Amino acid sequence: MIRFEEHHQEIREMISDFSDEKIAPGAEHLDETQGLPKESIGEIAELEMLGLTIPEEHGGAGLDLLSACLVVEEISRNCGSTGAILATHLFEGTAAILRLADDAGRERWLPDMASGKTLATFALAEREAESDASAIDASAGAEGDGFVIHGRKTWIMGGMMAGLTTVIARRGEDNLEDLGAFVINPGVDGCEREPMEDLLGLRGAGFCNMNLNGVMMSADQHLKGSSAGWSAITKVIDTARLGAAAVSLGVARGAIAHALEYSSQRKAFGRSIDRFGAIRAMHAEAATAVEGARLLLWRAAGLIDAGKSAGREVSMANLAAKQASYKATRDAVQILGGNGYSREYPVERAYRDVQALVPFGGGEDLQKILVARSMTGVRS
Ligand SMILES: Cc1cc2nc3c(=O)[nH]c(=O)nc-3n(C[C@H](O)[C@H](O)[C@H](O)COP(=O)(O)OP(=O)(O)OC[C@H]3O[C@@H](n4cnc5c(N)ncnc54)[C@H](O)[C@@H]3O)c2cc1C
Repeated sequence: MIRFEEHHQEIREMISDFSDEKIAPGAEHLDETQGLPKESIGEIAELEMLGLTIPEEHGGAGLDLLSACLVVEEISRNCGSTGAILATHLFEGTAAILRLADDAGRERWLPDMASGKTLATFALAEREAESDASAIDASAGAEGDGFVIHGRKTWIMGGMMAGLTTVIARRGEDNLEDLGAFVINPGVDGCEREPMEDLLGLRGAGFCNMNLNGVMMSADQHLKGSSAGWSAITKVIDTARLGAAAVSLGVARGAIAHALEYSSQRKAFGRSIDRFGAIRAMHAEAATAVEGARLLLWRAAGLIDAGKSAGREVSMANLAAKQASYKATRDAVQILGGNGYSREYPVERAYRDVQALVPFGGGEDLQKILVARSMTGVRS
């Protein structure tokens, strides 16, 4: 199911060069200052990458999720924060409109998302409802011909730069079928964003909390494709998990490359440390784990691109990516010895960024629960 074609290779090479030239130089400063990568996202938009998965009739490139995985990985290789914002736009914000909006909604929102005028994000999590969507408290009540939305969302990645956010809120009773997706412009009256600062990693990813204090919406801001509730919304959660995997594998690849380079230069006992068996074993294990997880990721993306149901494959890819990137960045820190703990070297940032990505898209435990459920056919 992995269809790796010539255009995938071309796009990867192009973005890889761009990432080394334009993204890498500012990554450390972005992390240090907890800034927003507005310039980088603008340049990514100029390369028409924000419309990568948007159909051509709406101004996008009409490419597949596999292409999006490759692009996000290459950006994340040098800067997890910028890669994470791009992943949110492609795998959450865009996916929500593509999968849940009707034709009129697609016509209304996608062209500005493709051109880069609007960065799109996704707001599901709440303080008391993260892994457990049934605890979502945000409500969208009927008001005149439309809705009024109240609630408080958290952990919205890229939220400080967003021009559009798909908010998950309940439309009525307290069950999963009553959850719905609503598109809002975070700049409207009643919507207030608070930046989330002093995070361990992804410090330039523009996280925010969002207070929704009676935000008025017209009826067409409700995405009709979410009418079935949670079972429809999970289509977006699946792609979000792929985006999270692509970011963490990109960050891990960056850390492996730095550790490899460092170990070829650093000398101990008269030899470069890449001659020592223990160091070589760490390189080999990290590369093998990351390559294996990439194949799972590309397979899951290919299945979704082919219109197949891929919940199990998505969770396997997300789980493998978390485990591989965690191991690869931890080993990279170890390979750099004392320097691994210094901000002078990028593996320290990679290690922190990957920690941030461990819960993103649902923690390891949740992915294991989902994989095991699909294998046994029963809930735990
Ligand atoms: C980097 C990052 C980016 C994010 N981006 C977004 C975003 O753009 N939009 C958005 O809405 N949210 C976002 N989130 C929130 C994210 O979706 C939640 O953090 C995620 O759902 C996991 O919840 P949790 O583990 O943080 O919390 P909890 O649900 O409180 O879980 C705490 C721990 O318990 C475990 N656990 C939970 N349930 C079970 C169970 N049944 N059995 C065993 N263990 C269990 C979890 O795996 C975890 O280890 C982001 C989070 C991070 C860290």
